[in-house]
Amino acid sequence: MNKYDVIIIGSGISGALTAAVLAKSGLKVLVLDAAQHPRFSIGEAMTPESGLLLRLLSQRFGIPEIEYLSSPDKIIQHVGSSACGLKLGFSFAWHQEGTPSSPEHLVAPSLDAPEAHLFRQDVDAFALLIALKYGAELRQNIRIEGIELGASAVQVKLPADQVVQASFIIDAAAQGAPLARQLGVRTTEGLETDTCSFFTHMLNVKSYEDALAPLSRSRSPIQLFQSTLHHIFEEGWLWVIPFNNHPQGTNLLCSVGFQFNHAKYRPTESPEVEFRKLLKKYPAIAEHFKDAVNAREWIYAPRINYRSTQCVGDRFCLLPQAAGFIDPLFSRGLITTFESILRLTPKVLQAARDDDWQRAHFIEVEQHCLNAVSTNDQLVSCSYEAFKDFHLWNVWHRVWLSGSNLCCVFLKGLLDELEQHGDGPRFDLALQAARFPGCVSLDSPTYEHLFAQSCQVVRQAKDQGWPAADTARALHDLLKEHEPQLLPFGYSKISNRFIVKAPVTPG
Ligand SMILES: Cc1cc2nc3c(=O)[nH]c(=O)nc-3n(C[C@H](O)[C@H](O)[C@H](O)COP(=O)(O)OP(=O)(O)OC[C@H]3O[C@@H](n4cnc5c(N)ncnc54)[C@H](O)[C@@H]3O)c2cc1C
Repeated sequence: MNKYDVIIIGSGISGALTAAVLAKSGLKVLVLDAAQHPRFSIGEAMTPESGLLLRLLSQRFGIPEIEYLSSPDKIIQHVGSSACGLKLGFSFAWHQEGTPSSPEHLVAPSLDAPEAHLFRQDVDAFALLIALKYGAELRQNIRIEGIELGASAVQVKLPADQVVQASFIIDAAAQGAPLARQLGVRTTEGLETDTCSFFTHMLNVKSYEDALAPLSRSRSPIQLFQSTLHHIFEEGWLWVIPFNNHPQGTNLLCSVGFQFNHAKYRPTESPEVEFRKLLKKYPAIAEHFKDAVNAREWIYAPRINYRSTQCVGDRFCLLPQAAGFIDPLFSRGLITTFESILRLTPKVLQAARDDDWQRAHFIEVEQHCLNAVSTNDQLVSCSYEAFKDFHLWNVWHRVWLSGSNLCCVFLKGLLDELEQHGDGPRFDLALQAARFPGCVSLDSPTYEHLFAQSCQVVRQAKDQGWPAADTARALHDLLKEHEPQLLPFGYSKISNRFIVKAPVTPG
């Protein structure tokens, strides 16, 4: 029987990067995948946090190739000109049924450094090559028939009576997650967010500037064609994530996806019919798609939200997308995934040294993952409430943004320290010492207080039917009260709809 230190199920970006780190550090690693690269995967919008976390992973484990995935210029140089689109900011354009859309109903925080829209089939294939380069073994197109978590080893049953054995198993198979399913830990109970998703890749999608409003009318400091564009409306939101939005690019595609809040609308028709109905309701959004054609079938996920009651145990760990997911609204999936890999892998290496694989050693990884899912559930469910009114959204998005900025400052501090001292264990302790693992700011008590209070206001407003203007006022008061400790400075000036995201090194 083949014996490994670690078996990883799933060779997507999470499984591949985890395998790369563990193999580079000397463990015998096997990656199993039901499919074969290159293959489609979702989770395309990077953020300043996810970019920083990739740089931290690269630096912490001495794997330069991981850093190649951390920014658009590096991806283009090392992976290829079709592997990513350019992201200079987030943008949110608000629409209301029966009212002409206006470029005034737009907020667009720009980034202080460019991030990428990952063309996952190329990026994931590259991530897998990193794992193989550092010694991980791979079996693709393989069906897992059963997983046995024994006292002294884990056994994975494969077709034709084959069995592979390891000391530890990591489920990185996202929604598919065979171990999470076998353990019966997955549930939707207690989640506030109840949404579905439709997504695909398209050709000939018109830019915001060509379809809705040129820069002279939107007055945005960045082209929204070079942002992760969210069209928001009462019952949900639609993303436009171009890969074909920069001069060096050779990719023709644009990612398009839309989500519905089941409390407001429950789709019953085919994805194509639902898409056409949505465009009819919001004619401004339809302008993007006048000449667009699908490059692949729509994928429909009837409910995208789930969590797990347990993420780690004796000899196993579920990576975040296997353990839980809420909604892609703020692109927090990859943040949680990369941070989880940073937290988990040193513990796996220690467990291998001690040959001690008890759950107790991985509890901190579970806490991070559970917090991340619960935080995102609150953030997203409140956001769907805020979709109903532009002014309310204009105020609410600052609650998210200021926490995200503080998180970046914290991560950049860790990166500077790691680059300066090169002391991995010291970095592990510093990350572990962050006071709010999995939460938006990671380490700011002031922000987390603001976040909790803001969510409470939105919930109360919903329960008691407050007018949107009253909710916005209450949130704005909270923002002003916390302003001196938050970033970016001056974010509570609501008339500025184009906040520049704070530089990660505070001046
Ligand atoms: C609709 C949607 C949009 C999203 N958008 C964003 C975004 O913009 N930004 C962001 O940060 N995050 C986003 N996310 C989250 C993001 O998708 C994940 O964080 C990220 O893709 C996780 O990568 P992964 O490697 O864990 O999963 P995947 O890339 O899905 O890889 C899982 C792998 O497991 C394999 N597999 C599945 N089942 C089995 C099985 N039974 N046996 C063996 N192998 C198996 C699959 O073949 C696949 O290769 C989004 C998620 C969804 C659902």
